[in-house]
Order: sequence, then C-alpha cells, then structure tokens
Amino acid sequence: MDNKLKIISIILGTFLIIIFVMLSLNKNVEIVEVGEIPKSFVNPNTDLPIKEPKKPEQTKNTIPSIVSDKTIYLTFDDGPSYLTNQILDILKSENVVATFFVIGRSIDNYTDTVKRAYDEGHQIALHSFSHDYKYIYSADENYFDDLNKIKTKVYNIIGNNSRIIRLPGGSSNTVSKKYNEGIVTRITNKLNENDYYYFDWNVDSGDASGKLTKDQIYHNTVSTLHQGQNIILMHDTGAKKTTVEALPNIIKYAKENGYTFAKINKNTRTTHHHINN
Ligand SMILES: [Zn+2]
Repeated sequence: MDNKLKIISIILGTFLIIIFVMLSLNKNVEIVEVGEIPKSFVNPNTDLPIKEPKKPEQTKNTIPSIVSDKTIYLTFDDGPSYLTNQILDILKSENVVATFFVIGRSIDNYTDTVKRAYDEGHQIALHSFSHDYKYIYSADENYFDDLNKIKTKVYNIIGNNSRIIRLPGGSSNTVSKKYNEGIVTRITNKLNENDYYYFDWNVDSGDASGKLTKDQIYHNTVSTLHQGQNIILMHDTGAKKTTVEALPNIIKYAKENGYTFAKINKNTRTTHHHINN
C-alpha cells in the first residue's frame, strides 16, 4: 500500500508541477492573429514611464505657418492679346508666376506670346475656344468639342496637354440655364471624372465689368486679399489696359504684405463656386 501511495503521490505531484509550469508559461504567450502586432511589441516596458505626447506649445512653430500661408494665384482670362506681352514683361521683372486661361479668338496671332508665357514658367490653362455661351452651353458635346479645340491649339504651341480649366462665366454661371438645364453640373462631373481640374476664383479684380480705372482694380483686389489661397480673376483681352496698369501696384502690395505667388497646377487646392445649373 505504501508503495502504491508513494507512486500515486509522485504522479500527482509531477502532474501538478506540469500544470503549474504550463499555466505560468501560458501567461507569457499571446495568441496573435495574422497581421496583428503583439501587444508586447507595442509596449514592451509597461513599467517605464510613457512619454507624454507633444503639447500644443511645442508645435507652435508649425501651426501658425499653415494658418498664415498667404498665396496669390494671378489668373488672366480671355487672352492672349497684345496686352499679354506687357503682362509677361511685368511678371518677368517682378519674378512672379501666373496662370493664363486662354481662348481661341486670336490665339493664332499670338502663338509666340503663348509659347513665351509657357517658357517663362507660367501655366497655360484652357478657358474655351469660342467663348460663345450659347454654343458651348447648349449641349454637352458642344462644350467638349470646344474644349478639345482649344486643348489641341495649346498643345500645338507648347507641346503639352493642359488639364487646368476655367468655365466661361465660372462654374456658378446661370446664363447656361437659358440654353440647357443642368449642363454645368454634368460638365463639371465629366471634367472631374476625366482628370481635368477646373478652377473658379475667390478674389475678383472686377475688371470684367465696364471700364474700371487702375485704382478701382487695385482697390477691388487688395481689399479682398486674405489668408490662405487667393485666386484672383483678371483679364488680358485687348480692352483691359487698366488691368495691366494696376498690376505692378497689386504685386508691390502683395509682396510688402507677405504674400507669395504661385501658378495653378493639378495639385493646387481647388476653388469651386456653388454650381447653380
Ligand atoms: Zn472668359
């Protein structure tokens, strides 16, 4: 009997030791799903003090620089014309870049000007070939035929396909409603789907309406400049002499007040108006 008891107690004892060892081992084993990071890898030393995340004061230097970012995108619509070269002269002497939304009206007479603008680092963007609201806003096909026409013209001059666009009248225009209900909504959707980038503006020099003096254009523009992105609407058709005259002072004001200049490209944050049709 004694021997049997001894054997049983040895077996039981061994069994208990094995269970104890298994249990204590099990504590350190984590079941890890594929792709999951074991907790012990994430924080192997839970006893060590965990570093406090950076407090806002410590990142002060980076936050205001984002907020105080003041960028100007000068944009000129409806050119080229004889004034475009004068604008390019000003931009060159001021070392400033701009974006030209060109149309087809007299582009054949100013191919050198368009090429010059491109070579001097400006953005050549597409506005319209005909700029004829009635035609382009009557049917989707008309709009895209017209767009392809100006796109091809520009390609033949600069050897590059421009994908930056501004709709005649802007995307908020209501005149298109007269010709085709909902056409701007459809056009802008198709542009977005086809790797085109359309831009409106958020600063209006006012030079589209009537004959403004250079001082009025200057005032309209600088009084609406703001933090962040300023896309300024201007025109370089042959009739806009006062725009050219206002330009040097606008650039001077901008430089003195900490603005920098950039051209629109497809990485530029889009400025879109509310679509009304
Ligand atoms: Zn226009």
